[in-house]
Amino acid sequence: MKLITHNILTCVDPRCKKEPPSLTLAATKVSVEDSKFDEAFIVRMIDRIDYPTLLTAYREVAPKDSPVLPPEVPKEPHTNKEFLKALYYAVCCIVIEEGEMICPRCARSYPIRGSIPNMILRPMDEEEIKHSSKRMKVDKEEADEEEGESKESDNDEKKMD
Ligand SMILES: [Zn+2]
Repeated sequence: MKLITHNILTCVDPRCKKEPPSLTLAATKVSVEDSKFDEAFIVRMIDRIDYPTLLTAYREVAPKDSPVLPPEVPKEPHTNKEFLKALYYAVCCIVIEEGEMICPRCARSYPIRGSIPNMILRPMDEEEIKHSSKRMKVDKEEADEEEGESKESDNDEKKMD
């Protein structure tokens, strides 16, 4: 799984559908693919990338000696070759082979095996339920203050264009 994919994935739990938080990425095996720099592609992607999410994930998993990404998107990023190259490397060359993504809201874990993320909603095991019911209580109180009730949400899928 590349970081571009992580960037657009969100928790599939219906309770997290509204303003879903970024999934926390943890990797146990990372590789770097030798993908040829595609300037046109990365220029097109700039405005669609959630940069803070990318940066957090990249800093978490990038091997030593990886290009450094600046804390914020620089001014005029579309013509900043150095930035474009680092960004391309981050989203298209880093491959998460093994690891997991965790939803910071409901604590569900989505495993990544053989570089494929498994986003199927599965029953939570007891440990997860204990963990997340605590969080849910807190979330619920906050939500109640904001706006009466939580809406039903149709379960499915993120588009991955
Ligand atoms: Zn969630």
